[in-house]
Amino acid sequence: MKIHNFSAGPCILPQEVFTKTAEAILNFNNSGLSILEISHRSKDFVAVMEEARALSLELLGLTGKGYQALFLQGGASMEFLRIPYNFLKQGGKAAYLDTGTWANNAAKEAKAFGETVIVGSSKAEGYNHIPKKLSIPVDADYFHCTSNNTIYGTQIKNFEPCAVPLICDMSSDIFSRTLDFSKFDVIYAGAQKNMGPAGTTLVIVKEQLLGKTSRNIPNILNYAVHIAKESMYNTPAVSAVYTSLLTLQWLKKLGGIEAIEVKNQAKADLLYNEIDRNPLFVGTAVKEDRSNMNATFLLNNEEAHKDLFNTMWKEAGVSGLNGHRSVGGYRASMYNALPIESVQVLVDVMKELERKA
Ligand SMILES: *Cc1c(COP(=O)(O)O)cnc(C)c1O
Repeated sequence: MKIHNFSAGPCILPQEVFTKTAEAILNFNNSGLSILEISHRSKDFVAVMEEARALSLELLGLTGKGYQALFLQGGASMEFLRIPYNFLKQGGKAAYLDTGTWANNAAKEAKAFGETVIVGSSKAEGYNHIPKKLSIPVDADYFHCTSNNTIYGTQIKNFEPCAVPLICDMSSDIFSRTLDFSKFDVIYAGAQKNMGPAGTTLVIVKEQLLGKTSRNIPNILNYAVHIAKESMYNTPAVSAVYTSLLTLQWLKKLGGIEAIEVKNQAKADLLYNEIDRNPLFVGTAVKEDRSNMNATFLLNNEEAHKDLFNTMWKEAGVSGLNGHRSVGGYRASMYNALPIESVQVLVDVMKELERKA
């Protein structure tokens, strides 16, 4: 049976990426070696890393604009720590927007380094919206935000003008929609949400911003060291970077971010229209801030319909629809590689539930 994978991460990747990864595990580039056993210093892998870094910048429209792309390890959570190390000055302050669990975790790491100002929070309302009209201290070393809140299903649609360096955790919506990415000074994303398998994190840094704190930064945490070593300061996640590259190549072939954005909008419209139409369901995020990647919703009458609905979607081959363990309910993650046909299967199940219930 075909499985429709709505998992929030690690997530669905294009079928051709799975096929090519499987081939490379047996015989990478006709070298007679597996991608799992080759040296990261081999010519073939150095070329993979170079292309992955260059293609990331190209797809975001950042080539030749003073940015460097890195593929690091430790997940997006490691960047929560690397950010203040590299950008929060001794005696300085950082501004954070609290839009959910991940945003909050990022702010917590910064607190150990200096004054951390929370310029907005939707915590009291269960993180159901994005706070707006923020006043960001002009003397902050940077402003950190989370573009898409994977757990709560909200997404920043408009990035307000920001007078200080803008740093964004784009783990769950990178490469999903067009934005003026040159507004950002640092962009980072754990690969496993929308660009590859778990094990590597894409970090994009505006180089001129580095080296401004008087901190003594440990090498492994220092972006400048990773840049100087061309993202090979230590052994990178070889196979995860390779599979990420295959996904980026797939996206480029498809027409890049502009093309995928159209598909992602169609998928989101299809599902949200059903959530709003079907009297059995209710969305949890305020409409204007709804995420096009992770749609969160509830049954209006859990007690009456939960068991039947759960049985029905599982029987239809839908997988990964349960909400994050911290919030419950349902979450449909519609990342780049999820076909609209899978969303249609879910919508059909929701309609069928309405008929049966
Ligand atoms: C999943 C997620 C993280 C954490 O990523 P790890 O790679 O597990 O550290 C951080 N931020 C966002 C927005 C996420 O969705």
